[in-house]
Amino acid sequence: MVRLSLSGVAIALAALAGLVGYRASTFTATPPPSAVQIPELSSYAIDAEAAASRLAEAIRFRTVTIVGDDGEPAEFERFQAWMQARYPAFHAAAKRERIGGRALLYEWRGSDPGLPPMLLLAHQDVVPAPEDTRAAWDVDPFAGIIRDGAVWGRGAIDDEGSLVGLLEAAEYLAASGAAPKRTILFAFGHDEEFGGEGAISIAASLAQLHRRAWFVLDEGMAAIDNHPLTGKPASLIGIAEKGFATLRVRAVAQPGHSSMPPPETAVSSLAVAVTRIHSMPIERGLDGGPALPMMRALAADISLMNRVAISNEWLFRPLLRQRMAGSPVALALLGTTVAPTMINGGVRPNVLPAEAIAMINFRIHQRDTAESLMRRARNAVSGLEGITLDWAAPPNEASPISSTTSSSYALIAALSRASLPDAPVAPGLVVGGTDARHYSEVAENVYRFQPLLLNTEDMAGIHGVNEHVSIENFERMIRFYIGLMQAGAM
Ligand SMILES: [Zn+2]
Repeated sequence: MVRLSLSGVAIALAALAGLVGYRASTFTATPPPSAVQIPELSSYAIDAEAAASRLAEAIRFRTVTIVGDDGEPAEFERFQAWMQARYPAFHAAAKRERIGGRALLYEWRGSDPGLPPMLLLAHQDVVPAPEDTRAAWDVDPFAGIIRDGAVWGRGAIDDEGSLVGLLEAAEYLAASGAAPKRTILFAFGHDEEFGGEGAISIAASLAQLHRRAWFVLDEGMAAIDNHPLTGKPASLIGIAEKGFATLRVRAVAQPGHSSMPPPETAVSSLAVAVTRIHSMPIERGLDGGPALPMMRALAADISLMNRVAISNEWLFRPLLRQRMAGSPVALALLGTTVAPTMINGGVRPNVLPAEAIAMINFRIHQRDTAESLMRRARNAVSGLEGITLDWAAPPNEASPISSTTSSSYALIAALSRASLPDAPVAPGLVVGGTDARHYSEVAENVYRFQPLLLNTEDMAGIHGVNEHVSIENFERMIRFYIGLMQAGAM
C-alpha cells in the first residue's frame, strides 16, 4: 500500500518535472520581426550639437500646461512661431493646422493616397517646476542650458525632446529634398499633462475626415538600461496603457458634539470604507495584458529559475504572488492598482462632522473596467451605513492592446534594434497616461516608445528635478525618427 502510493507520488513528480521542463523549454522568445528593411542609421549627417542647441531654445519657452486661467497662452504662440522659424524646409513641405486653439496637426502629404498615414505624436506642454523644488535643481529649469554633454531643463525628455526630435528629423529629410510616398501626420497636443483636450480634438477631427492611421507613435516608454527582470538593457515598446479612475467615497453621519458620540462617526465610517475598498480582491496575473508577451520577448535573458517559475505560473503561483507582493512595479504590471490618495473631513477636534470624503485612485488593468471596479467597491462597503460612492470625474478605461505581430511593430522593433543593438525589444504596459490613448479609434495600432536610452537618474528627472537628456541620446532619437520616416513612408 505504502509502496504503491509512494511510487504513485514518484511517478506524479516525474511527470510534473517533465511537464515543468517542457513548458520552460517552450517558453521562448517570439521570433524576431521578419526581416524589415531599414536604412543605416549612422549614415545620416547629423549636427548633434546644433540640434541640441535648438532643443535648449525650445526649453526656454515656458509652455507649462494651462489649467483654467492659470498659464501663459502667449508662450505657446511664441513657441509655435519658433518652430516655423527654425524648421523652414519642413514647414514649406507640410500643411499646418491649428486645432481647438493651441493643438497642432501637420500633414506631410505622400504621393500615394492609398497608403494609410503614419501618425507621430508629441506634446508642447510641460509640467511646472514648482518653487519649492527649485533649490534641488542644479540649473534654472527654463534656462535651456547645455552642460556636461547634456541639455538640461523642464521638457528635455518630456516632451520637447520628442517634439524637437521629430522636427529635426523631418527638417533633415525635407531639406534634402526627400518626399514621402505615405502621408506623415504630426500631432502636437498642448495639454497632455492635464486632460489631453488637444489630443481629443485632433483625434475627433481625424475621425470626422474618416482618416485612419497605419499606426501612432507617442512617448510613454523607452529603452531602459536595467530591466528589473533581466538586469540588462531592454527597449520597451508600450502596446497598451492603463486606465485611470478616481473613486469618491463619501460618509455622512449625524453632526454634533464629540463628548457623547454615536457608535460610528463620519470619520470612522469613512476609515472603514477606505480600508475595505483598499483591500478588496483584485485579480493579478500574467494573462490578459502585455506582461506575458513582454516576458516571452525577454525570455532569452531571464534566468532559468525565473523562466521555470514564470512559464509554470499555475504551479508556482503562491511563490510568484509572494515575490510580487513586495514589488510595486510588478503589481502595477500585473493588475489594477488601488491607491487611497486624499482624505478630508471635520473642522475641529471636538465636533462630529456631518460629512467626510476620501479619494481612491485606480489605475485600471486591461482585464478590469471602471464598471466592474465600482461593483466590487460597492460590494466591499455593503452594510456600512451612510457611505456613498461615485466617480470624481468620468473614468478613462484601459486602452486596447496593440499588436506585436503587425508590420508597424516590426518596423519600430527593427529600428530599436538598429539603434541599440544590445537591448532586446519587448512590448510593455504604460502605467501612466499619454495622449496616445485618445487615438485608438483612428489608428490600427498605437505604440508608445521614445527612442532614448534612460537610466534611473534620467527617469527621476521626468516630472522631477534636473530633467536632462544627453546629446548622445538626443542624437540617437533623431536618427531613429529619420529612419522611421524614411523606411515607413518614403
Ligand atoms: Zn509627456
